[in-house]
Amino acid sequence: MIKQAQYNLSLTRNELKQLAQMKDWTGKQWENKSKDEFIISIKTKIRRQLEDVQKTCCYCGLKLRGTSKGDIDHIAAKARFRHPEFTFTLKNLALACGWSNTSEKKGTKETIAKKNKVYSKCEFLLVHPYFDNPVDHYEWTDSDIEILIQVKNNSSKASFSIKMFGLDTTEMSELRAAQVSYEKKKLEQTLSVNDEDLVKRTMEYKQP
Ligand SMILES: [Zn+2]
Repeated sequence: MIKQAQYNLSLTRNELKQLAQMKDWTGKQWENKSKDEFIISIKTKIRRQLEDVQKTCCYCGLKLRGTSKGDIDHIAAKARFRHPEFTFTLKNLALACGWSNTSEKKGTKETIAKKNKVYSKCEFLLVHPYFDNPVDHYEWTDSDIEILIQVKNNSSKASFSIKMFGLDTTEMSELRAAQVSYEKKKLEQTLSVNDEDLVKRTMEYKQP
């Protein structure tokens, strides 16, 4: 299932100071075109920290591994016409699978309903990986074959995220069930040779 990110990324005071001094945000600072060593070191540091604590995609909840190592996604897009000033805002960064991150799904689409200069005070359109607890927004049905997702309490954020990330597609519902089955069997130590297919589906799910 989808989990709330309950960890804090950290940078040194000096690093934060240096970032705060950067101006003329275009979103391109993130891309390594300038080969800026400072930026490269910050990105490496953030990536390592995220890989340590985050094992599943922040949007769809599928495991990050194998064919889907995950990319650092800007929850509010960093593109020039979106919110480049949040390019290095730590709560704006989380790992997303290649599936959720494609241009057909999230891409550079708008995710802020009402902007504030302070990131945490923005109103978001989607279920925010850090600020929202998915259990307050989604409901799941229980089945071995497929786990369906539904909007809880008329959550508009849930409707938005389900639509944006295709969380209610058959493929996603089946992968979710496979992942839960796999975890359960692993915990009970009942995985057997008959589960080869299940293991394969969970570990190496293909992104369409
Ligand atoms: Zn995903």
